[in-house]
Amino acid sequence: MKIEILRIGQRLVRDDRVTTHVALVSRAFGASRILMYDANPEIKDTISKVNKIWGSNFEVEIIENWKDVIRKKKKESFKIIHLTMYGENINDIQDALRDEEKILIVVGAEKVPKEVYDMSDYNVAIGNQPHSEISALAILLDRVLVGNQFKISHPNAKREIVPSKKGKKVMDKTID
Ligand code: SAM
Repeated sequence: MKIEILRIGQRLVRDDRVTTHVALVSRAFGASRILMYDANPEIKDTISKVNKIWGSNFEVEIIENWKDVIRKKKKESFKIIHLTMYGENINDIQDALRDEEKILIVVGAEKVPKEVYDMSDYNVAIGNQPHSEISALAILLDRVLVGNQFKISHPNAKREIVPSKKGKKVMDKTID
């Protein structure tokens, strides 16, 4: 499944840390790209450094206009999934989401414009209580990929963790 993330909202500058974490979750949980406003160039640098060390070709794309992005993705046959506490319960909709081939997941930074609800194919709630875009995104991706996102190894990694009961084991992949 091809997965991309669209982060929208006015509060992105104040929410730099949250935006960085949304990008990190997207990368680590199986998405291939995040599209967002030019919140803070450091976010792009942070992700690029993580890619270099831990692998993956995860991309950060800076956008001007979220409506144009949604329209373009629809033309490319992406289904639009908007994460909102007002949406349909994830427990009821997860089977349908798993059958999709390309999805664009929209997460907000604050109150989201009404048009997003109308333009989306699915408005999905991770429970109907307010919480966080980071947790909502992580749970959605886990429900859709059912844990398989943790089985893939990331290409071009310099370091890879060897899971262990105690301590930290890290393999240096630059040494033969
Ligand atoms: N009142 C806002 C709203 O209209 O959804 C909450 C904003 S919340 C701080 C930021 C983002 O987190 C939301 O735009 C949504 O994408 C996500 N989010 C928060 N709680 C959620 C939930 N229960 N289910 C799905 N997404 C949620």
